[in-house]
This record gives sequence, structure tokens and C-alpha cells, in this order.
Amino acid sequence: MLILVLNCGSSSIKFRLYDMKDETQLASGLVERIGSDDAIFSYKTYKFEGSKDTLSIKNHSIGLSVILNKLTSEDVGVIKDVSEIDSVGHRVVHGGEKFSTSILINQEVIDEIEKSIPLAPLHNPPNLSGILACKEVMPNTPQVAVFDTAFHHTLPDYAFIYPLPYELYESDKIRKYGFHGISHRYVSLEAAKMMGKKLDELKIITCHLGNGASMAAIKNGKSIDTSMGFTPLEGLMMGTRCGSVDPAIVFYLMRTKNLTVDQVDNLFNKKSGLLGISGISNDARDVVAAAKSGDYRAKLALQIFAYRVKHYIGAYAAAMGGLDTIVMTAGIGENTEQIRELALSDLEFLGVKLDKNRNNTDLKKSREISADESKVKVFVIFTNEEIMIARDTKEILDRIN
Ligand code: ADP
Repeated sequence: MLILVLNCGSSSIKFRLYDMKDETQLASGLVERIGSDDAIFSYKTYKFEGSKDTLSIKNHSIGLSVILNKLTSEDVGVIKDVSEIDSVGHRVVHGGEKFSTSILINQEVIDEIEKSIPLAPLHNPPNLSGILACKEVMPNTPQVAVFDTAFHHTLPDYAFIYPLPYELYESDKIRKYGFHGISHRYVSLEAAKMMGKKLDELKIITCHLGNGASMAAIKNGKSIDTSMGFTPLEGLMMGTRCGSVDPAIVFYLMRTKNLTVDQVDNLFNKKSGLLGISGISNDARDVVAAAKSGDYRAKLALQIFAYRVKHYIGAYAAAMGGLDTIVMTAGIGENTEQIRELALSDLEFLGVKLDKNRNNTDLKKSREISADESKVKVFVIFTNEEIMIARDTKEILDRIN
């Protein structure tokens, strides 16, 4: 069974084509700068090391056609005809309250994703464009939506309802949704595998630390709390986002600095986080380099970032009534040993003991980084949201066939 996985952003399409017989990745690539005359199309396959072309791609439908033409091309293609693709799996950021699992896409699902646009105005419209592009370009191929929010549907009401007037939850569905669910689910499954244990007997904290960052408390395989909220702004410090701050700062800035709603939005989402504190960059690599050369604000940025991770580790161990495993994943979790060390130090009282040597050895692969005597196992696990989307898509297709 061949499955095409698509992750559509406002001006990009990331794709991977899998043969699900053995989960081989046949081809992968990225279309960037959709909407311009100099869009960039990168492409590689298991037997072709890669190409990068600049061409005019006006919209997602054209972007998809370009991808499909390449996949079926005589020289570097991996299939003869588009009809060989059995299904398309889409990453959809927000499924609202409705979708608790991945689902076969029909008109009703499309309408619901559209209804969720006010909840994810930056993400759901391009996700939807990708779905509509597939409907147009490959109308007979079943499509599946895999939601970033779905995994967190198991949060109890006391964890997902904010202490605002209850009517706001009823009327506007203002509540915690949580994001990065596909990644949290994937790495928790991998952690259980690496421990040789069943997921449903473990208490795991997963730390997805990328440019966007969130954590989840996963008890017996179910997410019971997560740090992102109604939007991806809540929780941890991120590349350019502040995470949780006193909400009264919003009123203060608007009243005393005469900032507009959009200006505060921009300040919190684009100018804060690692970038805002360091004044150097949103990229952890630049901040680590500056901290090493003694820059005070860069050091402070790393400390705040790590402190917040530690803060949630404590909170989630308490929420789960114990802890077996911590997983570090995504760009920073996988690669930035300085932040891992800061976040995981002095946690012996919780049973967490890092092996500094294992933590600092960059093996570019998933591995344990806790000491042998650590009661809680700590892993670096390379996330793979695409394979998770492909697996869900296959499962749904198997069910309907
Ligand atoms: P997102 O998917 O949210 O854009 P990523 O998971 O790609 O984010 O993570 C990006 C972050 O990971 C950046 O802060 C970057 O500095 C950090 N990082 C550190 N080391 C590496 C590395 N070797 N490769 C990629 N990202 C890295």
C-alpha cells in the first residue's frame, strides 16, 4: 500500500511517499514559497540523492501537481502512475472539539475543519487548501485527516477547562486543546518499545522542544495534560513565543503603551521567547553559541527555557502520581544537550539521573541518556510525525477495504 503524507503550510507543502509494506520511504521533498514565481521544489528518493528547482507555483493545487509529476517522471520518479497511490494522509493542526481520532475525509469533515479556522487561523486554511488540492488533482484517492489536537482529547475536564466564566466554554469552546499530538503520540510509543514495556503501564512525560515547544503527561497511553492550550502560545518558552505569562501584561501593555491587539499578538508570538530574551536569535544553536562566549542574555534565555521544562516535569509527575519515563524530542530536544542538562539536573529526588556523557554524545539517533541507576528512564527520541500519519492512514484504509 502506497501512502502520500502531506503537511501543508501557508506557502509550503512537505511530502513523503511511503510503501507501507515495510514502511520504506520512497520519496520526500518540500515545495516552498508557494504563490511566487520563484518557488523552490526540493525532491529526493531512496535511489536519487536530490534536486532543487526554482519555478513558478501559484497555489497548492499547482504545487501538488508538480510533486505528482516528479513522483511519476521517467528519470527520477518512483511510481508509474498517480493511481498507484492508495491514499493521502494530511496533517491537520486543529480538529476542534469534534475529532478525537484520525478520520476519512468527506464533505462533512471538510466543513468541520473549515469551522475550526477561527481556532487556528494560520494553520487550518493551508491544511484545507492541501485537502482541496488533492480532491481536485486526484479525486478518486481516499484522503485521511490526522489532527494535532486529537491525541489530547483524553484530557479530563478539570485540566482542559480554564477558570473563566463557564459560559465561554459553552458558547465559544474556549478551552485547552493542546498541539503536537502526533509527535507526542509517536515518541511515547517509541519509548515504550525501547523499554520493552506496554505503553498502557507507563507514566511518560514527553517534551517536544522545537521552534514551537510543548510537553505532555501521558498516563497509561493517554494524554492527561499538555502545556499548549487554546492556542500554541500557552506553556513553555519557545523560539519566538513567550509561552505562559501573566495575562494582565496584555491589559498593561494596551493601557500604558497604547499597543493594539495585533501589536501585542505580534510581540507575544513573534518577538518573545529565545529571540526576545537573548536579543540574538530564535535559533537555539545561535543562542547556545552566544552563551558559550559569555553573553549574559543568551545564558539567561537558555536558563528560562530549561526552567520551564523542569517546572512542567514536576507538575506532570504530580498530575500522574509518579513517573517512569521522560522523552526529549524535536530540534532542541534531539540536539541541544545544554538545554537537556539544565532541564534535567537536580531531579534525583524524582528518580531522574542524567548520564552527562550519554547526554553530551551526539549520536544522531534515538537513545537512552539517563544513568543506569536512574529510576526514571530518560530518552532522546527522534520524532517522526510523517510515519505516524502514514500509519493512521493505512489503518483507516484497511478498515474500509
Ligand atoms: P519546528 O519544527 O517547530 O520549526 P524544529 O523541531 O525543527 O522546530 O526545531 C528547531 C530548533 O531546534 C531550533 O531552535 C534549532 O536551533 C534547534 N536545533 C539545535 N540543533 C539542531 C540541529 N542539529 N538540527 C536542527 N535543529 C537544531
